[in-house]
Amino acid sequence: MADAPGLLADRLLEGSLADVSLLADTGEGLDTRLLPSATVIKIGGQSIIDRGRRAVFPLLEEIESLLPEHRLIIGTGAGTRARHAYSVGVDLRLPTGVLTMLGTGVAMQNARILGYLLAKHGIPVITPVEFAQLPIYLEERHAVVFPGMPPYTYWEHNPDVGLIPPHRTDTGTYLVAEVFGARSMIYVKDEDGLYSDDPKRDPSARFIPEIAAADLLSEDFDDIVIERAVLEFMGRARHVRSVHIVNGLVPGNLTRALKGEHVGTIIHA
Ligand code: ADP
Ligand code: MG
Repeated sequence: MADAPGLLADRLLEGSLADVSLLADTGEGLDTRLLPSATVIKIGGQSIIDRGRRAVFPLLEEIESLLPEHRLIIGTGAGTRARHAYSVGVDLRLPTGVLTMLGTGVAMQNARILGYLLAKHGIPVITPVEFAQLPIYLEERHAVVFPGMPPYTYWEHNPDVGLIPPHRTDTGTYLVAEVFGARSMIYVKDEDGLYSDDPKRDPSARFIPEIAAADLLSEDFDDIVIERAVLEFMGRARHVRSVHIVNGLVPGNLTRALKGEHVGTIIHA
């Protein structure tokens, strides 16, 4: 049972923030969804943007058609240029925090690319310092573009294994959806969703239309379609308890997903 609000407030002032029962009480009750009508969309770096006009132009046309009805927070992946930066950085034994700076730069390049292409619709590119202005951009222009990397930069945590930043653009976009209480999180990539293995390497891999994040974490798949960190964060989600992965090379998929149709793979908490 939650305490009366006054009492909890007093306990927070006076009690220990290591007291687990006090901490648990802070999570009781309903959270405030800040942008409940917005949808966060991640446009894949390697899977979409690196493919150039064949993949990007039809997708941007589709996004344009969605603007009247939807409020879109569009995050960008980093992709092949980030892989290259990581490969040089690892070869030079640079720390994870520095590799993260490099990856963040590439996600920003991709945000600029999409931003210039969407400029004629008055859609701005924003970085975390401008996030306080998100509401007015969404109200006025119906969409923004942002670099999908979480702004951890030098503060990125070391991964369990190796050097590559564990929280990249799938995670950064997910966390934006979660903190603003967006209505949904859609990943736009180049496969129909999650398979039992990377379908590019194993054409006989089995398609998985729906799965729980915890089950996916415990499955022993060699590779998965989104960063593992997203699955871990979903376990603690207060708002965004499912994510949808769709194939952005198929026209209409994004529109259908925004209408709430089950198009690709849905991963739920
Ligand atoms: P992004 O472009 O968003 O960075 P990635 O290239 O990192 O996306 O991830 C998407 C890719 O993941 C797909 O193109 C696919 O080849 C690969 N992939 C790896 N494992 C799987 C899997 N189990 N199911 C589906 N796709 C997978
Ligand atoms: Mg990726």
